[in-house]
Amino acid sequence: MLDRQSIYIDYLFERLDFVDDTFKLQYFDELIYSCEKFYRIGAISRQEFNKRYDDLFKKEPYRAEYLKNNYFYDHNDDLYIPDKYNFGIIDYLQLEISIKTKRNVHLKPLTTPFISATDIASYTYCPASFAISKSFILPKTSSAITGTALHEKTFLLKMLTDTRYDEAQFLDKNWADYTDDIDILLNDTNSDHFKIIEASKLIFCGHKKKNNSNKVFKGGKNSTFVGQPDYLFLSDTNEYFVVEEKFIGNNGENAIFYENHINQVASYMYGINDYPISFGFLIYWYYDTFRKDEKAYIRRIAIKKIEKTLILKNRITCIFSSIASLKKNKTIDFDLDSRNAKRCANCVYSLYCGHKTGNYEKISLPYSVGFMRTKNVEFPNDLKNEKDRRTNK
Ligand code: SF4
Repeated sequence: MLDRQSIYIDYLFERLDFVDDTFKLQYFDELIYSCEKFYRIGAISRQEFNKRYDDLFKKEPYRAEYLKNNYFYDHNDDLYIPDKYNFGIIDYLQLEISIKTKRNVHLKPLTTPFISATDIASYTYCPASFAISKSFILPKTSSAITGTALHEKTFLLKMLTDTRYDEAQFLDKNWADYTDDIDILLNDTNSDHFKIIEASKLIFCGHKKKNNSNKVFKGGKNSTFVGQPDYLFLSDTNEYFVVEEKFIGNNGENAIFYENHINQVASYMYGINDYPISFGFLIYWYYDTFRKDEKAYIRRIAIKKIEKTLILKNRITCIFSSIASLKKNKTIDFDLDSRNAKRCANCVYSLYCGHKTGNYEKISLPYSVGFMRTKNVEFPNDLKNEKDRRTNK
């Protein structure tokens, strides 16, 4: 990286008030690779784009041109979106500073008394991310938009039909094309699991387009748990089981099953009262997107069976109690050593989070905007141009 760029990045990190520790260095190394996927959060309204363009054009027309070349207009959302392929770490850090300086986040209405399976997953990922997700209405990342759209395709049901070989082509012109035979994706490890699903009866499908998909299951003590699994099946050996599917974008090379997803499945297994659920499956659909058409291509599947164990049950109970305590007392301790650079660099709430900086040992609910802090730091002398230097003398 160029010297001047490094100096500027250091300056931006200082503005965000990062504690100078190993975490900061590791976070930087991770963010270099992950920042691109957050480009969509930098979207601005048409009015704002035009104003910025006009202001720049009056002073420095070449910068106005640069702005125009680095944003594209999204007709569906009536927004100007930064070009993903030019969105680097500097853009990311500048965006974070802008968000934290303006702090014009929209508050969510007061939280319900329920604890959902999604809450369990979010809290497992990080208690701070849980608090942020419960407090603000925030724009979605492009992978979240793609994930939601792919989710509605109910790929699993298509795979299970008798006409699998036709259906499995997934030829949908809006979001997903699938170019290979499904058998290539099913290997020895996962095909046995699919055979169990294939021989089972579908009881419930939690997708918007399907019948009865609005049902939310309740359970736990005083019915405080709520959840809606993607699928609920009855096996040919008369066992009920849940299936949760996730869509993993371009970087998901290895079939690592994340703890937050496992806990989400486990929360259905232990939390739903309507059916005696014996086990669960977690399915990862790996997809690639290509610049040419921006479509998603499913290229690999991984599936994990989740069994009931005492350790798992205790883990879910413990997370459930921690969330209940945070909701009741409105505050909880945050363990600074629990910060993980890779997780923070990939966290969808990182742009709003002050906890990764290493400055806070408490989390509040709602998440206090006081955590979204920036620091006044003098602009580095080495980056001031000759004219500025002369003016400052
Ligand atoms: S950036 Fe890190 S500390 Fe902050 S919410 Fe995300 S995972 Fe938690």
